[in-house]
Amino acid sequence: MSAYWNSRVRKLDPYTPGEQPRDRKFIKLNTNENPYPPPPGVIAAIQEAAGEGLRLYPDPDCLLPRMAIAEQYGVRPGQVFAGNGSDEVLAFAFAAFFGKGAGGDDDAVLPLLFPDITYSFYPVYAGLWDIPFKTIPLTENFTIAPDNYRVDSGGVIFPNPNAPTGIALKAKEILPVAEYQGRNNRVVIVDEAYGAFAGSGPLPGRGFLGAESLVPYTDRYPNMLTVHTLSKTASLAGLRAGFAIGSEPLIEGLCRVRDSFNSYPVDRLAQAGIAAAMAGTPYYAETARKLIATRERIAPLLRKEGFETLPSAANFIFIRHPEKTGAELFAALRERGILVRHWDKGRIADFLRVSIGTDAEMNEFLNAARQITGNKKWK
Ligand code: PMP
Repeated sequence: MSAYWNSRVRKLDPYTPGEQPRDRKFIKLNTNENPYPPPPGVIAAIQEAAGEGLRLYPDPDCLLPRMAIAEQYGVRPGQVFAGNGSDEVLAFAFAAFFGKGAGGDDDAVLPLLFPDITYSFYPVYAGLWDIPFKTIPLTENFTIAPDNYRVDSGGVIFPNPNAPTGIALKAKEILPVAEYQGRNNRVVIVDEAYGAFAGSGPLPGRGFLGAESLVPYTDRYPNMLTVHTLSKTASLAGLRAGFAIGSEPLIEGLCRVRDSFNSYPVDRLAQAGIAAAMAGTPYYAETARKLIATRERIAPLLRKEGFETLPSAANFIFIRHPEKTGAELFAALRERGILVRHWDKGRIADFLRVSIGTDAEMNEFLNAARQITGNKKWK
């Protein structure tokens, strides 16, 4: 605490990102980065943008990347908003659509709804913007029960697949939530950060759209916003690029917040990278399929060693072992040079979230896990 902080900052409980080690070389399975590099065309486009044009501000409307996204995703450019990573897009969306006055009623006070176990940035944004919220417990099987979100509220947000469980709902299960909330002009945000890893991977010729994406329903549900990132499927976590797709009024709401904050959150390199990434989708579909194949190979091997694995539709798996605490597993893996993610809280304290790496990285992880829990070597 510092006397220099105003009451808003004193009350904040900021998000803690996964460790980005500087000193030692780890097998990094802790922040859901893609282990495969971006394709050469994307790197070349970013390098080309790193020229004398940097003298000039970037296009505040982000038109070229938005057009490239719109074409891949089968929507209009006016239905696309681009930002500095999907975290920023989410922060703007919380500011634009939730909290006091949600649904166009200045006296509205109903809470925003999201799961008790979900992306831990959501309560942080709610804290930042003073948004009352209510968490809805996941079922015993760690799934989201969509019916729980068909109640009067100040809006709804959850990821699909959910994080950190990795469990996905079908698009058809979520639509009734959008329908219900739409009757009161409440906004439903579905964070599709990991959507491309559901089913058998992205649909050919349709960007990074996974099998359960809600993007095809954008025209039908003007109160529904989907949020997307280039950090996972597009191997561009270091570029900071994300976007949202929704009706024009929702996109305009996001622009109003952005233009009250920073007119140029997407720099020239990121704009070039986004546009080029949209041209590289066959490569990305292939790497997503590789990651899905690795995930499906690893999960049964872990179960053979006594781990419980939740059914993942994402580029990570959420696992626990009956004889070790999450903290013990985390520390023992770290000692062996493997970083994973662990949250020491409530129902998930004994779980680890393990990002899917290359096959070689996952073999090393399996060996370490086996040493820690059984002292044997994987065949
Ligand atoms: N949503 C979810 C569910 C995530 O797990 C993440 C990654 N931490 C993000 C959004 C943010 O991704 P980025 O800001 O890299 O686009």
